[in-house]
Amino acid sequence: MKQIILTGDRPTGRLHVGHYVGSLRERVELQNSGKYDEVYIMIADAQALTDNADNPEKVRQNIKEVALDYLAVGIDPKKSHIFIQSMVPELTELTFYYMNLVTVSRVQRNPTVKAEIQQRGFETSIPVGFFCYPISQAADITAFKATVVPAGEDQEPMLEQCREIVRKFNETYGETLVEPKIVLPKNAASKRLPGIDGKAKMSKSLGNCIYLSDEPDVIKQKVMSMYTDPTHIKVSDPGHVEGNPVFIYLDAFCKPEQFEKYLPEYKNLDELKDHYTRGGLGDMKVKRFLNNVLQEELEPIRARRKEWEGKLPEVFEILKEGSAYAEHTAAQTLADVRHSMKIDYFDQTDLY
Ligand code: ATP
Ligand code: MG
Repeated sequence: MKQIILTGDRPTGRLHVGHYVGSLRERVELQNSGKYDEVYIMIADAQALTDNADNPEKVRQNIKEVALDYLAVGIDPKKSHIFIQSMVPELTELTFYYMNLVTVSRVQRNPTVKAEIQQRGFETSIPVGFFCYPISQAADITAFKATVVPAGEDQEPMLEQCREIVRKFNETYGETLVEPKIVLPKNAASKRLPGIDGKAKMSKSLGNCIYLSDEPDVIKQKVMSMYTDPTHIKVSDPGHVEGNPVFIYLDAFCKPEQFEKYLPEYKNLDELKDHYTRGGLGDMKVKRFLNNVLQEELEPIRARRKEWEGKLPEVFEILKEGSAYAEHTAAQTLADVRHSMKIDYFDQTDLY
């Protein structure tokens, strides 16, 4: 069976370090592994409109930002098809058919949707489109017969729902669609990176992000103002590393050789954590180390981004070509789907 990757992001803002560790880093690795026949990376503008219907300009402007972030982290248009969701109308058609295979109560049980409804203050008036976005996401994945979806932990319920739709479709209409699996980051801290404010998830919608495109002084200022252990008041106080975003970021980002380079008095992260837990290690020192670690990781990304910023017509050409290619693939799946669902009236002669 062909090995196919589909993944994407909502153009609701520039991408942040949570995206990077949660999905982008893995995507680039998989893209370059040579093990995949096709890689599709989608800018999910239609999904972004489900909770930004009144702000199309925001979505429009962020297409460019997300595309630049992709190219900056190393998504290679020669190896991956980068495309815009709404430029592939087959995805909308597929969503409409899948809606018949899912109950309202099943979507209501999706824990990510539940949390997002609350976060957006939608409790009393949920836009139908927003409510249905897990179904539309199943269409996005299956239209490309994707086998693998590299994503953060918040996407697990979406993938579960997608697999259910695939099973139901195949059961009802005959074997047509492929069940995808999620690939989570190997590193536990990267599955759901918290915000700099200590909130459970760094998220564009919560404004608690370090962006991939932030300038060095902005990164430093954000790191230095990060939420840490509120019980660690004096340097001599024993501290907590669990749930402490500064240590979670170090878990997600720091490499063993960076100790020798920036903090030679410690051999590794375990030693640093032990000292913090015992007491006698100040937050500022740990934050300065984290700043060095992040600056090292983000510097080449920012530089590549600046190069692409100077070639915007080329960026849009990449999106245009990627969208045309994606539409071609999705149309083939739609032909299979229509055939299985017996709605390919003009391709069959049994009706007349
Ligand atoms: P929004 O607030 O608009 O939903 P977002 O910041 O949650 O934006 P998405 O575009 O919804 O970003 O997510 C894109 C991908 O990045 C998904 O695979 C998601 O799991 C992953 N991701 C987003 N935030 C994090 C995070 N804090 N930690 C790990 N992965 C993340
Ligand atoms: Mg999200």
